[in-house]
Amino acid sequence: MLTPSERERYDRQIMIGEIGEKGQEKLKRSRVVIAGTGGLGSPIAIYLTAAGIGVIRVIDHDQVALSNLNRQVLYWEEDLHRKKVDSARTKLRGLNSAVEIEGITETITEDNVSRLVEGFDVIVDAMDNLPTRYILNRCAIEKNIPFFHGAVNGFEGRAMTIIPRETACLRCMYRGPVPQEKFPVIGVAPAVIGSIQATEVIKYLVGIGKLLTNRLLIYDGLNMNFSEFIINKNPNCDHCGSHVRKE
Ligand SMILES: [Zn+2]
Repeated sequence: MLTPSERERYDRQIMIGEIGEKGQEKLKRSRVVIAGTGGLGSPIAIYLTAAGIGVIRVIDHDQVALSNLNRQVLYWEEDLHRKKVDSARTKLRGLNSAVEIEGITETITEDNVSRLVEGFDVIVDAMDNLPTRYILNRCAIEKNIPFFHGAVNGFEGRAMTIIPRETACLRCMYRGPVPQEKFPVIGVAPAVIGSIQATEVIKYLVGIGKLLTNRLLIYDGLNMNFSEFIINKNPNCDHCGSHVRKE
């Protein structure tokens, strides 16, 4: 049940017919893990905290650096050299103290990923590298936890929603070489993509709308257009194909 203060805080979103009080209660009962609290993780965490998710776990091994501040809007100058998750927790608690924020300072690996996402309803991909995305993708499929992919580069970005065992996964879509480690980003690009990922998470948790599944959404900020590519589930995918499925 919602408290009077929650009804007031979430008034504008409860007004949305598809959400209502029932939807808000679902958000309150939900547990979301955000892998990475950088450029994508910042808007994702801010908007999901503002929306009233029950528990949000943020995972990042890094400390705040000056070169983060052009895009990682959770962090300010006063946060320089602090652990990102500590700084993120302070900001998010200040925004909405009713949301339980867990900060974990760890690097996501094959060995710890299962423990890090255990018991969560969704995993949000706010990473900055493909190898860790693959670790998360595989774990999401194994544990049957929906996975919300997003990535940016320069003025561009992309997003796709993955429902394990039903829709195409990250690996169905991309099997090419791992791109360069350091890539350019203008801060507004992850703001756009992170907001799309947070929108997808809210829709999934409430159970409304049409998800971005089997569709890769591409955002081109320089030409200001969105395009969409159909992604088919690959039956021979080495992450989600039937031959690797664990029942
Ligand atoms: Zn796949």
